[in-house]
This record gives sequence, structure tokens and C-alpha cells, in this order.
Amino acid sequence: MAETDSDKTIYLKDYQAPRFLIESVVLTFNLEQECTRVTSSMRLRRVPATAADAPLELQGRQLKLLSVTLDGKVLSCDQYQVDPEHFTLNQLPEDFVLEIVTKINPLENTNLEGLYASGSMLCTQCEPHGFRRITYFLDRPDVLTSFTTRIEADKTRFPVLLSNGNLIETGELPENRHFVLWEDPFKKPAYLFALVAGQLVTIKDSFTTMSGREIAIHFHVEAQNRFKCGHAIKALKKAMRWDEEEYGLEYDLDLYQVVAVDDFNFGAMENKGLNIFNSKYVLALPESATDSDYEAIERVIAHEYLHNWSGNRVTCRDWFQLSLKEGLTVFRDQQYGAYAYPGGGGRIRDVSRLRSFQFPEDAGPLAHPVQPKEYVEINNFYTTTVYEKGAEIIRMLWVLLGEEGFKQGLKIYFARHDGEAVTIEDLLAAMSDATGCDLRQFKLWYDQAGTPEVKITHSWQSATSEMILHVTQDCPPTPQQAEKVPLHIPLKIALLDSNGKELDLILADDSSTHNRKPVRERTLEIRVRVSEFRFQNLPQKPVPSLLRGFSAPIKLKYNYERDELSFLAACDHDSFNRWEAAQKLMLLEIIDLLENHKANPEPQRFSQTFGNLITRKWAASEIDGICELLQLPGEIYIGEQLEKIDPQAIFKARQQFKKDLAQRWAQELEKLFLSLLDNEDYQPRPQDMARRRLKNSALDYLVTLGANGPAQRLCQQQYQDSDNLTDHLAALAGLIEISPAEEVAEFDDFFKQGESTPLLLDRWFALQALSKRPDTCQRVAKLTNHTAFTRTNPNRVRALLGSFALANQSAFHQIDGSGYRILSREIITLDRTNPQLAARLAGHFSRWQRLAKPYSSHMRKELLILAENPQISKDLGEIVRKSLQS
Ligand SMILES: [Zn+2]
Repeated sequence: MAETDSDKTIYLKDYQAPRFLIESVVLTFNLEQECTRVTSSMRLRRVPATAADAPLELQGRQLKLLSVTLDGKVLSCDQYQVDPEHFTLNQLPEDFVLEIVTKINPLENTNLEGLYASGSMLCTQCEPHGFRRITYFLDRPDVLTSFTTRIEADKTRFPVLLSNGNLIETGELPENRHFVLWEDPFKKPAYLFALVAGQLVTIKDSFTTMSGREIAIHFHVEAQNRFKCGHAIKALKKAMRWDEEEYGLEYDLDLYQVVAVDDFNFGAMENKGLNIFNSKYVLALPESATDSDYEAIERVIAHEYLHNWSGNRVTCRDWFQLSLKEGLTVFRDQQYGAYAYPGGGGRIRDVSRLRSFQFPEDAGPLAHPVQPKEYVEINNFYTTTVYEKGAEIIRMLWVLLGEEGFKQGLKIYFARHDGEAVTIEDLLAAMSDATGCDLRQFKLWYDQAGTPEVKITHSWQSATSEMILHVTQDCPPTPQQAEKVPLHIPLKIALLDSNGKELDLILADDSSTHNRKPVRERTLEIRVRVSEFRFQNLPQKPVPSLLRGFSAPIKLKYNYERDELSFLAACDHDSFNRWEAAQKLMLLEIIDLLENHKANPEPQRFSQTFGNLITRKWAASEIDGICELLQLPGEIYIGEQLEKIDPQAIFKARQQFKKDLAQRWAQELEKLFLSLLDNEDYQPRPQDMARRRLKNSALDYLVTLGANGPAQRLCQQQYQDSDNLTDHLAALAGLIEISPAEEVAEFDDFFKQGESTPLLLDRWFALQALSKRPDTCQRVAKLTNHTAFTRTNPNRVRALLGSFALANQSAFHQIDGSGYRILSREIITLDRTNPQLAARLAGHFSRWQRLAKPYSSHMRKELLILAENPQISKDLGEIVRKSLQS
């Protein structure tokens, strides 16, 4: 459906403080699936500086207005104005009580914002603008209100009725109905409101806070999922303890509730005291969740919990500040992840994702600053830039200010702004006040889009035993930002001697190192476009280890010799840089294959490194990091290094490279695989996960050898013997790579298991969409007609179409454009019911200008078809319009 106001752009510079505040609201929900009546009784007050004749304008969407009462007097419809987006009242007293009664239809609400039905359950999603689909309200994050919520519903269909805060009262009503009354003692913006009603069972646990308060923990799920919450509950308690120990932050309410919902547009939502989760991020049993799922559940549970401070107690003034809560909370959940999964692979995987998804976004037509300056539809700004690049910015603060300074800054931030709605500038001011560090230049990270490029060259002066690093930073132009200014970049480095030992770093003209113990790793602060760092008293020409731990989200250009990369991959003490060197080496060799330099090959250095890695005996704690060293650079990342992207050529070269390694080391890979088998019951312990990951990586290499290699036998054996989804999926993925899925008996068996478990059925779709077989594109087209392909379920859509368009470059980028056609047809269909999801999928078309012909013209054609649709939603329209701008 088309929305009104479709092209209106909202600007940060136009921000105005609210003219009215809502001191309290009492909501009464008379729940029915098809007709819910909402009575909202608000106590409002005009903000003192506001003109006395200022109108009150509330937001509302797709509501049926039943009645309006002002201070007890019923208003007739000529006493207020209503349009499709607003409700306006004039000539108001200074404070007053406004009661509005509206009617909504949750069953017909397919966009999954506001109050909607998921299966037999009713639930809400209010961030960012869902609350205005429930009732007319000042639906903006800087209006914080005390909520009291009364819910009345049928006892049989909705025995469990939940909202935020504490349960105050329950009781019986006539006609088999009942009611509950919830009261939230903390003022909050409407986006943190939540309501759930359904036939749910409650799993109970508790947590004692550091000050000795007892918190009840309630997980509400459908009955068949009652035994699948154990892992999430354990994770929640671990995260609660971690935030106390790490940041001194304690939970505030007496009750913490989590609900699992099947149909959900996001991963989860941090509503105050009542988190609503996509069931994918709560439910786990070994046979229905992979190791990665277990880890993701732990991270998402922690993320939503950590929001209670970074997001809920201190919230955002407006949606341009989204990264204030998201960047900070993603960084905090990354820190928690490093604590819960200490193998070292977590940081590598995070960076790898950032470079595969955020870097391309930052270099394309949808690039935007982490603090955007304008938007048409805010739903389109829940991006990897706001979240993941936002988290990298917080990480840079942590590097620049040091752990103590950073923690002190956060302490000041929370104390100063508790209960307030603030800005990114407020966070930086607290950090500055805590440390005395001037962060004005640093703030530009939030204002400038694009990934900065830092080019480093060196000169070695043997006569004086000095090495000079010449550093130049540049940032390419992005939409509406042609010119960029230099950023404040922390660059963590070390210099290694020929044995891999870190050398003392003595900088010329540096008062800070004077009279201090020499350091072997330091953070250079790059602040100007061109700078120079002169290191003295070096016993020999060193190999620099640059951007350790990925200390800044930049593209680093340094011309390493291949020998140096082999050396760093083997010797660097920084596990991130060891991985980075291996990636660079593989990249060079894959690009050689792409450019057909194979006729005169350089000795394949990586092959030797690879052989060393898979034949050495590693300690259990090292396996996670080692496993990452064996992962090939992704196709998207390889494409990013090239002038024009030819996805099929990249796929072929990368596949060839992988196959060469598998062929050369087949025996050793099989030996490695067998050595990592075990007969113990499944445990989601970090070390076991790393072992399985390494084992299945070895298997994945062997699969490239097809039916001639040992993979088929090993996969069949693994499918039969293993007791967990991780190993089942690895085996199945291998089997359907070697033979068509129809011929794989195990695949059929897996479908039968999935029929009763939606999350397994998602996997069944995803496996086929991810296959590298040449007929995958046609298979995906066929699967869109499968009876189990339900478009109302975002998880199912992402499993098939997300896997296809994002994670399977060779299937999606067909030379005749047929892959793009499948996606655009689905986008048009989805846009009618769930514009948010449609817009997200359309993002896969945004990078058409980077592709080689004919891919680029085929992709552009699909964008033009989408643009021509007169019924296009605001969400999708914004993405398509921006993508077509050149
Ligand atoms: Zn979040």
C-alpha cells in the first residue's frame, strides 16, 4: 500500500524540542485479533517556553478514531483535525487530560510494526515508529512517559498477558475474559513499549544482583519450545553478572521477561523489562541450533540486556542518534562475546563481516554517516553502518582513551544523563570530561561517510638505524559529501625483527616516551592528511605489523612483499594481524588466478602456510584462531579490491584456488578431519565449537574434490553419527554439493525433521540457496513456489532470498540477469505486505555501478522496474531512488 508523505525528507538540522510533554499515560487494551480497542488517557503539559497557542500534534497511522475527550468533555469532530499521519488539537490549557479511543486490526497488520499477530499470539514492535500504529501519541524518543497498561482479553485464547514493568493486579471479567494491570516505574519513550498476549508457557529463573536484590526471570514461549530456553537463560544471567563486574551496572526492575516470537523483522527488541525476540535468537537444542546459533543467541541476549543502560536508561534524543545506543551496545556485546568466547576468532569474524557488508555500503549510493543528517524512512537506517561502524567508532575511543579512561567516561555519561534522551555529542562530552582528551576532530567519524584509506610507505636508513613511516589518509567522496577532511585515526603498530620479536619503539621528537620504559606496541594518532613517524635505534630493518587488532575501520594500503606476508602469517604476535597477513597473501594469489598469471606462477606461498597450519598439533585454546587462518577471503571482499566486479570470474578463481589447496593437501585434510572427531555428547562450549569448526572446514575443502575425493563418504558417516545440527548441516551441505539434492536421501530425511520445526525448515531452504551447483538459481525460483515458503515470516524469506542474494554470489549474479529477476519479483510482492523487508532485500541491487557488464545493466533494469511501480512503499522507494542516482 502506498503511504502518504512519501517523499518528505526529515533533517537533523530541523530538530525541535517537543512543545508538550506526556507526564503519564494509562493504556487500556481490549484485545481481539481482528478488532482491538485502545483507550489512551494521557496527562499532558505544555513546555514552559512554548507559545500559549501552540497546537498539539500527535502521530498516528492506520488507526480508526472512535472518540476524543479533553478534561472529561467529549470533543466533536470539528474540534480537532485528523489526517492519515496526524491528530491535531488547538487552543489547549497548560495542562490537561486527553483521552483518545482508537480501533486497530492486528490480524491485518502484515508489516510487523505496532500490534500484530504472529501465529496465535499478539505482540508489538514499536521501534522506531510502531507505537503510532497503536494509538495517537507523541511518538518520538525524547518524550519520556510513565506507562500503566491494562489488558483485557479472552481467557482461553490469551491466557498470558504481558507488558513492561511490574505486574500490579489481575482479575476476572464476565464472558470468559480476564484483565491484568502492568505498571512501569521508569519513564520511557513509546518505542520501548511492549505488549504480548498468547498461549504461552513460562520458564522461571532468578538472578541476585550485586547489591543483593532478587530479580525474577521469566521466559515465555509456546509449549512445544519449553525445553529450548536453557541456553538463553544461562546467557542472560552471565551477561547480567558481566555488566556488573565490567561496568558496575545493575538491573533495575524486579522482573526481566523475554518472549520468543516466530514472525519478527529484527533479531530482538530491548523493550523495557520485556524483551521480544525473534525465536531464532532464543530457542536452542543441539538438534535444532548450530554452534553459530548458540553463539549468536548469547550475543543477542547480552545485546538486549546491555541496552537496559545503553539505550533505555539513557536513550536517544531523535533517530539521527540511533548509533548512540546501537554502536555503543554492539561494542559492549562484542566485549561480552570476547569474554564468553575467548578463542580470538570472534574479533576476526566481526571484522570480516564489517569488510564484506559495511565497507561496500560505505562505498555505494546508500553510504551515509554513522550519525545520518537526513532520512525519508528511518527504517532504512538500521544499517550495518549505524550498528557495526558505530561499534568500531566506540572501539576507537576505547583504544584512544585506554580502558580506564573509557570506563570513567561511560560512568560519567550514565550518571549525568540517567533518565534523559541525549545525543552523540553528549556521549563524547562525557568521554572528554573524563580524560581531558579533545574529541572535536574525532566527532567527524560520525559526520563523514565513506571508508578512509590510509596509505603507508616506509624508508629504511641503515646508516642511522631508523625506519620512517610515511602515512597519508584520504577518504573517497560519498553521496552529498564530495570533500572530506582528515580524521583522528588510532593506528596500533609494532615492528618485528627477523625472528618475529617485537622491537622497542623509540620515536624521534616524542616527549611522551622520554624517561619511560620503552614500549613494543603503540598507538599512533593520525590527525592530519600527511604525517611521518621516525623510529630510532633499531637493530635491523624490521617488518612493520600495522593496524593491529584492526584498531580503526579503514582500508590500509601498504606494499608488503609476499615473503613478508608469509612471515607475518606465521610469526605476528597479534592474532588479528596474523590472520590479516594470510588473507592478503591468499588475495594476491587469487587475483593472480583471476588475471591468468598462472602460466608463470610464483611459488604458491600460501599453500605452504596452509600445509603448516593443518599438520601442526595445536593446543585446544589456539584452534579458534587457527581455523580463521584457513578461511578464504569472501567473494564480496575480493570484489572490493578490483576496479570492476565480475562475480562469475571471481567465483571461478576462488574455487580453483580452494580446489588446488584441497588437492595438494587431501590426505592431510582427511587426517585432520578424523583427528577432530569425538564421541562425546554435544556441548556448546567454546573449545568444542572451535574443534567442530576446524573439522568442518577441513571437510568443506575436501568437498571441492567432488565424488572423487573422500568427502562423500565422510559426509554420509557424519550425518549418520552426529548428534547435533552443526555437523548435520556441514554434512548435508557437502552432500548436496556433490550430488543434486533430489538424489541425496539424507536431504529428504532432513526436510521431514523440519516439518515440525520452523527453524530447521529455514535451514532446508538456506542450504539449497547456498549451494554452488550451477542450477541453484533455477532451484531458488522453484522454491519461491514451495508451499512451505511463507512470505509472512521474515526468517523464511531471509533463509531463501537473503542467502541467495547475499551469501551466494555465483548463483545470484547470472550472466543473463535471471537471478536479479527472481529477487525483484519477490521484492514487488513483499512490498505490499512488509515494506521494511522489501527495502532490505532491494539493498542488494544498490551496488550495480561497481559491477562489470552485463551484470550492471541487468541489475539497473530491475531497479527501474521497481521504480516504475506507482504503489511503491516509502521504505522501498527511498532505497530504489538512491540506488539509481549516479
Ligand atoms: Zn540494539
